[in-house]
Amino acid sequence: MSIVSAKEMMFEAAEGKYAVGAFNITNIIQMEAVVETAIEKRAPLIIQASVTPSKFLGPKVIAAVYRTLAETAPIPICLHLDHSTSVDFCKECADAGYTNLMIDASKQEYEENIRQTREVVDYCHSLGALSVEGELGTVSGVEDQVVVAEDEAQLCSPAQAVDFVERTGVDIFAPAIGTAHGVYKTKNPKVDFERLGEINQILNGNGIKTPLVVHGGTGLSKEYAIKLVEMGGAKFNVSTELKHSMIDAVYTYISANRDEYNPGKIDIAIKAAIRGTVGRWIDILGSAGKA
Ligand SMILES: [Zn+2]
Repeated sequence: MSIVSAKEMMFEAAEGKYAVGAFNITNIIQMEAVVETAIEKRAPLIIQASVTPSKFLGPKVIAAVYRTLAETAPIPICLHLDHSTSVDFCKECADAGYTNLMIDASKQEYEENIRQTREVVDYCHSLGALSVEGELGTVSGVEDQVVVAEDEAQLCSPAQAVDFVERTGVDIFAPAIGTAHGVYKTKNPKVDFERLGEINQILNGNGIKTPLVVHGGTGLSKEYAIKLVEMGGAKFNVSTELKHSMIDAVYTYISANRDEYNPGKIDIAIKAAIRGTVGRWIDILGSAGKA
């Protein structure tokens, strides 16, 4: 039985100075590919579904497939709802069997962000071993239906991070530190490593209490990723790169095999592409062999 929340695996990651890869999926084939790769690498895994794919497939369907795959897997696996701006949808997914929920009220006024996050935390904790991720400050770019312009993105203040974590009771915390969703427009994006380190020191300096999440993994160099893990990132989100891997693989396969009408072969091409991307990230994050 390897159904776990993000919190427990991230405590181990934070203590062991590596990060758990959190990979966004939009369909079942991708989910299988992500799980197979993590098993092969003996790496703890967080499967993420954002709101649109969760609604398209239905939270119960996603959770049922997750349970089926995770129950027999020899590694711990979490199913995470990524960037839900709706408290009610967080509750629906928690009821369906997701084990970690992200309420993203970061675009709300500060007090409203706290109120909504607290409501999801209280609900999820009443159901048992579920954990909740909250965000403070805003990550620029587009993740599902959440759009934040670069000049609107605000970095998280360390003092406010402490207040937010204490008042909401979140289990894991995503401070905005300059990473972005989607594809970076510059080769060397301005990432505030020191800010992440400072927030980590305040929250987790005297023993791990609230492990930290890094959003916007796609396009960050290996060096940046390793430094973010060193500074305290214990969950590392990769979304856009998996979407690109999948769509490029489908395009390449169909372009080369235009007369082929066996959809299974396209699924095989998708799996191979996703496995390559996920395997590379697991190696960078240092989580291989940790499960
Ligand atoms: Zn994100």
